[in-house]
Amino acid sequence: MAMLPFDDRDGFIWYNGEIISWRDAKIHILSHGLHYGSSVFEGERSYNGRIFKMQEHHERLIKSGKLLGFDIPYSVEDLHQASQKVLDANNIVDGYLRPVAWRGSEMMAVSAQKSRIHVAIAAWDWPSYFSPEDRLKGIRLDFAEWRRPDPATAPVHSKAAGLYMIATLSKHAAEAKGFNDALMLDYRGQIAEATGANVFLIQDGKIHTPIADCFLDGITRRTVIDLARQKGYEVVERAIMPEELAKTQEVFLTGTAVEVTPVSEIGEYQFTPGEVTKDLLLAYDQLVREPAA
Ligand code: PMP
Repeated sequence: MAMLPFDDRDGFIWYNGEIISWRDAKIHILSHGLHYGSSVFEGERSYNGRIFKMQEHHERLIKSGKLLGFDIPYSVEDLHQASQKVLDANNIVDGYLRPVAWRGSEMMAVSAQKSRIHVAIAAWDWPSYFSPEDRLKGIRLDFAEWRRPDPATAPVHSKAAGLYMIATLSKHAAEAKGFNDALMLDYRGQIAEATGANVFLIQDGKIHTPIADCFLDGITRRTVIDLARQKGYEVVERAIMPEELAKTQEVFLTGTAVEVTPVSEIGEYQFTPGEVTKDLLLAYDQLVREPAA
């Protein structure tokens, strides 16, 4: 079934303070964000009509802009209200929200000090398609050729559009070989993350995850670390070399979109999603649907 392209749908998008028709939410070709990558975004999910970790997402959007040298002209509170308007206008209960902020067209050169910062929020339906049993079969990852850059090379803690260039290249290469996604190493050769999700390893009942010092410290990553500790698991954040996959029993990814996704294979290494992964997958599914305290 062909998917409707994202620019050929009906609905409403919040654009610079107003709810407008989905089809009218356009940018000019001469936008700095398009030419020079001066764009940051978020990916959020609503469950039962409530956006999970909304505060964290909107704080991160503003921080991502600051890391690219610009101030988003809306407060966290403004972004909360705008997101709610988008959900309401489109009648979305279980959905995905995509806020994005970018430099406009006032200056078209590397320097763009005076450019206007535009902000838009779109959202679409995204129900849960797969049962926990199906998800526990796990996905297959290849090793990516591209590496996550040194923090001295790029603003690695910004959810900046430009940092996804190597993610798309890596994901396409993996898909061309029949894998679902790619595991990226960092500039030191340590395990970093997948192309749009963080990674966790289980070794003898303990949970290990790389220190988020050169990639996004995901909101789901932090949520799952807290959940695991509350459940009594030991969680260790440390440098992990890929050879350690040989002594790893379970692997899973975390992210807003993938939630907790078990991994069955990375390159030549095989894993069987087991009790720890299942425990956290179910706990996360429950947490996201818990009514606000
Ligand atoms: N790393 C990358 C590169 C991502 O795109 C994402 C998704 N935003 C994550 C990690 C996970 O972040 P979060 O849990 O905040 O969605």
